[in-house]
Amino acid sequence: MKHLIRKEFLEQGYVFATRAAEIARAAGHTRPARLASNENPYPPSPKAIKAAEDVLPHTNRYPDETNRAFIDALKERHGEYHFVASVGMDGIIDTVIRTIISDGDRVAVATPTYSYYGLAVQAQGGVTVSVPRKADFSVDPHAFCRDAAGTKLAFLCTPNNPTGTTETTETIAAICENYEGILFLDCAYIEFDETDYRPLMEKYENLIIGRTMSKAYSLAGLRVGYSFVPAWYEPIYHRAATPFTLNMVSQAAAAAALEDTDHVERIVTMVKEWRKRFMDECPYPVVPGGANYVMVDVAPGRADDMVTELAQKGVIVRSCASFPGLPEHYIRVSIGEPWENEAFLTAIRELYQP
Ligand code: PMP
Repeated sequence: MKHLIRKEFLEQGYVFATRAAEIARAAGHTRPARLASNENPYPPSPKAIKAAEDVLPHTNRYPDETNRAFIDALKERHGEYHFVASVGMDGIIDTVIRTIISDGDRVAVATPTYSYYGLAVQAQGGVTVSVPRKADFSVDPHAFCRDAAGTKLAFLCTPNNPTGTTETTETIAAICENYEGILFLDCAYIEFDETDYRPLMEKYENLIIGRTMSKAYSLAGLRVGYSFVPAWYEPIYHRAATPFTLNMVSQAAAAAALEDTDHVERIVTMVKEWRKRFMDECPYPVVPGGANYVMVDVAPGRADDMVTELAQKGVIVRSCASFPGLPEHYIRVSIGEPWENEAFLTAIRELYQP
């Protein structure tokens, strides 16, 4: 029956990095340090857990399709912006692409970066145009607008996955001014950085800012993402979105998590302290970044071997060799619990070759 399937989906797609976990298990590590997925190692706010439990008995009904409780909490937290919400930011990326892209349309992506944009564009019949970042992984707004000319939509991630690089508000404003398409600014890790792009929403009608509850808010398993969207775009998004995407439990937990600012601030402070320790103490150069992970330069051609050797020592990290556009000498290490971070620093010191 495979002849019925679109060819895009017969090719290899999203592959999860399980190899390092298998190596760690084979080496006898029953509880390895899991630093490969940029997750938050801490549980969600107790208030979010309680809110989720409280709505469970009511799940015989469909959830509120307008996500009212969550959107109200977003307005309380950020101000009177226009928001949409979905099953993770990935769900929003899918819907945004669906509203703009059809067969043959071009989408610019500032690379190296998060790989899902390209897969989602391809699934919609679009074509990805890679716009290379500078050698320090930042984006030059003039080069970006030149290379992205003629595309309808562009993806730019800040702090960028996997490099951690952050863009200034001036860079983003310059792109919004000069780019003729819609800019999707992926801010999945923004809570770990200080840059505030939100005021740009007041000025630019071609800017969407994507955010997630998966990282700083510890709700990856409940799949909640949201976006700041221009007023004109909000009803269009809803026309293209799958009905009732965000379930009742996720909505309630996300609203409560947003309100528990103390909980998230504690986690963000810890992550920033560890990020500084990684920068100071890792024997290999660490790329300056603003996320809950760091990208480490472990020397040309050494990324995959380093992942294997760290796994043998019970530390699971991600090789960046699979990110198109990145020279093959980086690993990405998430900031985890203190014992996991210590395990990484100890292991990388042992493996260091000057
Ligand atoms: N954007 C980036 C840059 C990411 O790293 C991720 C998660 N890995 C996402 C978006 C998707 O996040 P979510 O869990 O909200 O779908």
